[in-house]
Amino acid sequence: MTQFKGKSTISVHSGDHLDQKSGSVQTPIYQTSTFFYPPEEGKSWELPPPIGAYIYTRYANPTLDAAQDKIAALEGGEKALVFGSGMAAISTSLMSLLKAGDEIVSVEDIYGGTFSLMKYHLPLLGIDTKFAPTTDTNSIIGAIGDRTKLVYLESPTNPLLRIADIPNIVKAAHEEGALVAIDSTFATPINMNPLEMGVDVVLHSCTKYLNGHSDLIAGAVVSSSELIDPMYKKRIVLGGVLDPMGAFLLIRGLKTLALRMHRHNENGMAIAQFLEDHPKVEKVHYPGLKSHPQHELAASLMRGFGGMIGMEVKGKRRGAESTLRSFKLIKKATSLGGVDSLASMPLNSSHASLSAEDRKRLGIADNLIRLSIGIEDLEDLKEDLDQALKKG
Ligand SMILES: *Cc1c(COP(=O)(O)O)cnc(C)c1O
Repeated sequence: MTQFKGKSTISVHSGDHLDQKSGSVQTPIYQTSTFFYPPEEGKSWELPPPIGAYIYTRYANPTLDAAQDKIAALEGGEKALVFGSGMAAISTSLMSLLKAGDEIVSVEDIYGGTFSLMKYHLPLLGIDTKFAPTTDTNSIIGAIGDRTKLVYLESPTNPLLRIADIPNIVKAAHEEGALVAIDSTFATPINMNPLEMGVDVVLHSCTKYLNGHSDLIAGAVVSSSELIDPMYKKRIVLGGVLDPMGAFLLIRGLKTLALRMHRHNENGMAIAQFLEDHPKVEKVHYPGLKSHPQHELAASLMRGFGGMIGMEVKGKRRGAESTLRSFKLIKKATSLGGVDSLASMPLNSSHASLSAEDRKRLGIADNLIRLSIGIEDLEDLKEDLDQALKKG
């Protein structure tokens, strides 16, 4: 495959599966469950099928391959796999990397589904997890022991946009013979490429920025051939593969990834500054702001800071609830990373199942609103935020 230099060119062109027969300029949707195979008499199945040989869509499909090659190129990895959700990508990857008796060291402020997987489901398979705070590099490194096979990071985190010191954690993990995986959903390959920092496995919920239109559930993992090949076999038996129509939507979304992220970065920064100066806002969490406690670390690792912002508003829980109710343009919904701006309160959505004590320990305030800033015009976004904050 041709190697392109720029992320926009990669977003548009990498991985495209050109159909020589028809001359279609876009990757066709191979909406089929099965393929003519074996192609020649006297030949039998080779499992898993080699690249370019197709048997059955749960194993491989050309539309999926095109999405995978584009994501691998964007992350600068050897290979990628796509899944029917971010959680399918995470669970399949972890079950491929780990076996009974192994231990994970994970940051504690991870996505809720991943936390449940590690706390309640993996222990049933004999895989245990030790948790440490994202910002406490020493306690993450200190938790790595003889049984630790994997250090699991998420950065920036949800919803407080905390940053993990990836290079130092990678160095310590590798010295102890452990691999490092990161959920890079919030950063995207436009703002950060963890593989360049020595991370071994990069995970994405493609539901968010990679697809970018809040109309698809999908996930991906990117890594070396050595680690991806067994994950591919695991995906075949666990069955969490993406479907061809989903892969087409993902490819369509990915074509504008670089363009969209530049706008999310620009809007995110401008709105964070606007909120920081707003009399109704107590605190803004955004890694691009100088006031963010890890701003320098974030700036050394990331090329842009994205569209996710946490804001604590005046008037406690009730102030936040009435602000949320008053949004007109910004939609009140969970999820993130799409072209439409969305807002939610972690207290009653993503972090509702936690006790008040646990929320306090994690720093999630009752008056915290999580904003996913879209690609709308700044004047409209500011106007909506201002009118809603005044009612809060
Ligand atoms: C949404 C999300 C996930 C889970 O992805 P799904 O596509 O919903 O399965 C995992 N990690 C992060 C950081 C997310 O935001």
